[in-house]
Amino acid sequence: MSAADTYEVYAIKYGTMQNRHRHDNLIMADDHAAPMPIDYFVWAIVNKERTIVVDTGFDTAEAARRGRNVMRSPREGLALLGIDAAKVRDVVVTHLHYDHAGTLEDFPGARFHLNDLEMNFATGRLMCEGVLRYPFSVDHVCAMVRRVFEGRVVFHLGDEEIAPGVGLHHVGGHTPGMQSVSVKTKRGMVVLASDACHFYENMERSKPFPIVFHMEDMISGWAKLRSLAESPQHVIPGHDPLVMQRYPAPKSALEGVVVRLDVKPKG
Ligand SMILES: [Zn+2]
Repeated sequence: MSAADTYEVYAIKYGTMQNRHRHDNLIMADDHAAPMPIDYFVWAIVNKERTIVVDTGFDTAEAARRGRNVMRSPREGLALLGIDAAKVRDVVVTHLHYDHAGTLEDFPGARFHLNDLEMNFATGRLMCEGVLRYPFSVDHVCAMVRRVFEGRVVFHLGDEEIAPGVGLHHVGGHTPGMQSVSVKTKRGMVVLASDACHFYENMERSKPFPIVFHMEDMISGWAKLRSLAESPQHVIPGHDPLVMQRYPAPKSALEGVVVRLDVKPKG
């Protein structure tokens, strides 16, 4: 079994949207009308000592509002790995967009790790602007404010270790408080980019995702992710269906649903 500061890392797919095109995902996309589906994930960081969940996805009501297809709730996805959401103590919320910060009620025992700048953004004057407000759900934001009043939000600013071998790293760019997560694994440091990099292609071809608060921070963020990771290959984008193809399922029954990120990619 691994040491206390070394973890297994899982990506759990809970939703997808097939009807999406390259220009929806890449600024200055070539072949811009070609299909480019997007997947939705939450992540689990696990060893004998602790379980840390990264992001809480969204529920079926939110999916219906936005025309997304949810296959399972994040809670149900975690249960496939034997993780009881009700017993999870630490949840990182990388940012407050609707597809990362719903279903907080499924984690009644958790504290939520959030960047200060994200809460400021989601509750401040810029939410009067429709173009910035669109990716947020007011219900999710209010649910997080309630957790603040319950003393269950841990605020972070900058780069901080939240457990041995698990770091939060402020990146910004996509949203002001966007944070990514580094995890020590047997194959070296893996970085869960979340939406600091949606697709491999955003980072590899320097084509930013179109929802961007600060372009310079998004672009310099990719360099930061690479510098944190063991290799560029150890940076895991937040929405790329290729993640499901590149990494192995932990067991055959979870093929197409869960992959393991702390082991070498296939092939
Ligand atoms: Zn997202």
